[in-house]
Amino acid sequence: MTEIELLADADARARRFVAGNAARRVFPDAEALAALAAFEEDLTDGGKPGAETLALLDEVGSPTAVAGNGPHYYGFVVGASLPVAAAAERMVLAWDQSASTPLGAPGASAIEAVAGRWMLDILDLPRESVVGFGTSASACGLTCITAARRTLLAQAGWDFDRKGLAGAPEIRAVVSDVAHVTMIKALRVLGFGTDNLLVAPTDAAGRIDPARLPPLDARTILCLQAGEVNTGAFDPFADLIPRAKAAGAWVHVDGAFGLWARASAAKRHLTEGIEGADSWTTDGHKWLNTPYDCAMSIVRDGAALAGAMTSDAAYSSAGADAQKNLTLEFSRRARGVAIWAALRTLGREGVAAMVERHCAQAARVAEGLRAMGLEVLNGPVLNQVLARGRDDAHTQAIREGVAASGLAWFGGTAWRGAPAFRISVSSWRTSDGDIERLLETIGRHAG
Ligand SMILES: *Cc1c(COP(=O)(O)O)cnc(C)c1O
Repeated sequence: MTEIELLADADARARRFVAGNAARRVFPDAEALAALAAFEEDLTDGGKPGAETLALLDEVGSPTAVAGNGPHYYGFVVGASLPVAAAAERMVLAWDQSASTPLGAPGASAIEAVAGRWMLDILDLPRESVVGFGTSASACGLTCITAARRTLLAQAGWDFDRKGLAGAPEIRAVVSDVAHVTMIKALRVLGFGTDNLLVAPTDAAGRIDPARLPPLDARTILCLQAGEVNTGAFDPFADLIPRAKAAGAWVHVDGAFGLWARASAAKRHLTEGIEGADSWTTDGHKWLNTPYDCAMSIVRDGAALAGAMTSDAAYSSAGADAQKNLTLEFSRRARGVAIWAALRTLGREGVAAMVERHCAQAARVAEGLRAMGLEVLNGPVLNQVLARGRDDAHTQAIREGVAASGLAWFGGTAWRGAPAFRISVSSWRTSDGDIERLLETIGRHAG
């Protein structure tokens, strides 16, 4: 096969796969999983034909794909891929350029600059902010905290780049008791030490209780959350952020999915005051429904992010706003292109309509679960529904029964120490009819 024939074959297979999205089992069956043994080959000396490799990938691999790109997947706030975002991603793969600097990728750099500007517009964040397009909210959160600590140290007269942390003034981090595990991971990786984190207690919904906020000062990073993974709750930004800023602290907001509430006039109140923070992270690959490895670090003080992330070298120098100087990556795919394509196609109203539809669908799920006598543990305020059965065994039986049916999938969690399940509505493909089918499926296992 020629290159073009191989790509055409891949495209035909990919089209067939996507066309089957709504009908496929959401979690693969045992037979498909057992067939994965076909991948257990030894590496050969001479290699094998590409066409055969592609056939194996599709014929054995595709039936094991969890249908995150379908309408019936309610786990982990994953979203599906919007058609235009998936299509734009194919173009980016075809270009196959390293979008580190305008010299390596002039077109992609120009498009990512527009995507950054549009992000600040749709989320209504300070327009002077810079946007780094990284792989994940995990990586972007780590990037923001790196910039935050380096800035607070500089303000304390300490040159972090030259002297590192040995002997440095202590910078502390405040996190809520329901901070996302990747926020804790970023702090752990950066050497804050989990024993040293100051933990802010939260209320029943998972919002920091302002009355019990640990003391803040100019050597503190306050990590807030827009959209708790179980309840979808938002910290009370309008109360907390002015206090933190008055104390000289840096405020970071993890808004991996929840920041998108700001794009909706109906949900924007949840984010009131969020624009006062210093840095924010959000994902494209969750609620915006772009393909994976698509997230953003948004930092008000562009020099703080560029100072922390610069990777200029004699053979690769570029402006402070080059993506390689705003992210952890050096060689990189132009991740911002899929975001640009999604925003250009949906427009402000399209994004707002998707967010609002998912919130309304989550409310319908909650109503349906309550009607079945199940306990819904959150409002819901957003697109997350947190619920449990009569007892722990019932909770587990519902979740496992639905997963085994192949008709839908959602995950388990623990909330305030007891098992629960969480249903996240975030795929652009999920229709109101799909939500009724979900409720019927749950109903069959909740008896
Ligand atoms: C998913 C999530 C993250 C991590 O995002 P990734 O893109 O998966 O790394 C961080 N915070 C919250 C609240 C999340 O929901």
